[in-house]
Amino acid sequence: MLLTPGPTPVPEFVRKAMADITIHHRTPEFEAIFKETRELLLELFDMPEAVMLASSGTGAMEACVTNLTHKKALTVNSGKFGERFGKICAAFDIDYTEIKNEWNTPVDVNAVIETIKNDSDIDAVFIQICESAGGLRHPVEEIAKAVKEINKDIMIVADGITAIGVEKVDTTNLDAVITGSQKALMLPPGLSMIGLSNAAVEKINAQPKGYYLNLSAEIKKQGQNTTAYTAATTLIIGLGAILSKIKEGGFENLYAKTALRAKSTREALIAIGCEVYPQTPANAMTTIFTENAPAIRKILKTKYNVNIAGGQDHIKTSIFRINHMGLVEDFEAAWAVNAVELAMDELGLRAFDGTANKVFAQSMFKGN
Ligand SMILES: *Cc1c(COP(=O)(O)O)cnc(C)c1O
Repeated sequence: MLLTPGPTPVPEFVRKAMADITIHHRTPEFEAIFKETRELLLELFDMPEAVMLASSGTGAMEACVTNLTHKKALTVNSGKFGERFGKICAAFDIDYTEIKNEWNTPVDVNAVIETIKNDSDIDAVFIQICESAGGLRHPVEEIAKAVKEINKDIMIVADGITAIGVEKVDTTNLDAVITGSQKALMLPPGLSMIGLSNAAVEKINAQPKGYYLNLSAEIKKQGQNTTAYTAATTLIIGLGAILSKIKEGGFENLYAKTALRAKSTREALIAIGCEVYPQTPANAMTTIFTENAPAIRKILKTKYNVNIAGGQDHIKTSIFRINHMGLVEDFEAAWAVNAVELAMDELGLRAFDGTANKVFAQSMFKGN
């Protein structure tokens, strides 16, 4: 059972959709598939423009940094992925300033506002919606609204790689929203997507940047249902399949189900004495802070067939993360919390009495 927060398992119907013969990307046949997928993607983002890139999520992060910063970037670093925005700026000699916090701490809206007010060079803000390093939810919508009230020309770029497909993100004040194929969208890695506002499109076209990751060129081509370079045809076919399926069941229903599963998992683990790591947990994953994380993960994997993630860098061995993204079955989440309780029993941390399963089931199925 793969319950890591990316890569997530690829459902059988998606694997089948991608198993057909490879079609040429410059054909009416593929362009029709591209058009359909693009329309579903615009609906998913709830934004006026979107592009698909043949890259992992980081490629889309890089494209947004290079195409949307003309003067100076403000990056929010509460974890590995926020730190990455700063590293991309440094790699391209783009001037940037960073607000850094511990990985369990969301950025303070006022800290962002103060930084913007004190530095008129900043013309783009880069932030994760969910910082996956600790499963932390940043107050992105609130920040975007406040920044736009000060200066509507400042671009708000949100990394939604572990948020799009997990929850309904209010994109009203967002200019670019990034996602990738291998997390909530349950595809193999290799495709990234960016939702764009009209203001972002204008800024990108005013000063086109880069070659392969030139968003101006992609916006132009993708509006004609093709791509500047060879499209990742197989992944785009898979994306079309998964988005049609999600739409069939209703985007809102997927978000509601994921939120309930995340809440039930958190409550079940708290009930058996676990400590939730982030101050503001996102629904993409449940992150537990414990020095026993490596031992618990090992027992889960070897005895109960549950594969969950640990941490990275300074919290590598002090957290474990259980994924909620994608079409996870309720019984998979129920089994995961059961397995954690059994592992804690084996480690002498707490005698097993079925509390985790009971609390999970009550929250998930009995409405409390
Ligand atoms: C996984 C992830 C990324 C990076 O994606 P790659 O596909 O590994 O390049 C970026 N941001 C967040 C929040 C992620 O979870």
